[in-house]
Amino acid sequence: MAEVIDGKAVAADVIAKVTSASNDLAVSKNVTPGLAVIIVGEDPASQVYVAAKSRTAKECGFNSLQHTLPADTSEAYLIDLIDILNRDRTIHGILVQLPLPDHIDAGKVIQAIAPEKDVDGFHFVNVGKLGTGELETAFVPCTPAGSMLLIERVHGKDLSGLNAVVVGRSNIVGKPMANLLLAANATVTVAHSRTKNLPELCRGADILVAAVGRPEMIRGEWVKPGTTVIDVGINRVAAPEKGNGKNRLVGDVAYAEAADRAGAITPVPGGVGPMTIALLMANTLTSAYLASNLPRPQF
Ligand code: NAP
Repeated sequence: MAEVIDGKAVAADVIAKVTSASNDLAVSKNVTPGLAVIIVGEDPASQVYVAAKSRTAKECGFNSLQHTLPADTSEAYLIDLIDILNRDRTIHGILVQLPLPDHIDAGKVIQAIAPEKDVDGFHFVNVGKLGTGELETAFVPCTPAGSMLLIERVHGKDLSGLNAVVVGRSNIVGKPMANLLLAANATVTVAHSRTKNLPELCRGADILVAAVGRPEMIRGEWVKPGTTVIDVGINRVAAPEKGNGKNRLVGDVAYAEAADRAGAITPVPGGVGPMTIALLMANTLTSAYLASNLPRPQF
């Protein structure tokens, strides 16, 4: 059986380090990291995510600010608010919760965030820094950055000689994940919906990252014995065994089958999920350190 990678424990460890470094910053520079989260509209899932982010920011000792705007907020108003936050020296991280209502151009809004406060890592400047290996000052999207920390717990920081396969090429998970693996010297293949012979390709992986959004698509027989499997997927499926109308969460990997062959594997839930919020805190802290002319903290 595979080693189960405990994302909850690693995330708790990251949050403890962030909290301690945040206290150090308050003592040495009299600076409190500030995170501003903006939510537009009343999407229930977004409200849950935003509440969790604000709560964790407070736990880390941050100044946590939440702007809750009505669904009919104009794009211009939102961009004006971002501009104010860009100029506010007490704010180090700005996050706009996605999705935004249809009348707002999310791309335009994200590009309005100052790159040095873009703790989601979606601004073109940060995408470019990651793509060119400028990792000292880049903000990397939280989910792939968190997945990378889990990979490091198994393999260390240098992945020389290892084959990594990333299934999924989205801008928020697949592509940044591939860039991080490449920066760590892995040999990287990115697969997507047009890829041929996906099972065979996956069987060549020493590190297999699934970021597809299809419940249990990656089967056990696609996993080479000993592989490290990182399952980013979060899919809600019907669970009639739990009662009428009940759901459960599954990943993009058929867990039980894959765990029989993998060397190490992340569960869903409790794997990559908790890392995303922890890395958001780490990015906000990093922004406050860089703004205070201190070296980037390591996690
Ligand atoms: P996305 O934007 O929908 O991208 C999915 C990717 O999977 C696309 O590149 C798509 O290929 C590829 N794909 C779809 N069907 C495929 C198939 N049959 N074979 C091979 N590739 C296929 O999704 P995402 O935002 O990257 O998210 C992926 C998963 O991660 C979702 O389950 C999401 O809920 C989860 N997620 C989790 C976290 C977390 O905190 N743990 C954060 C973000 C996302 P094409 O490009 O060719 O269409």
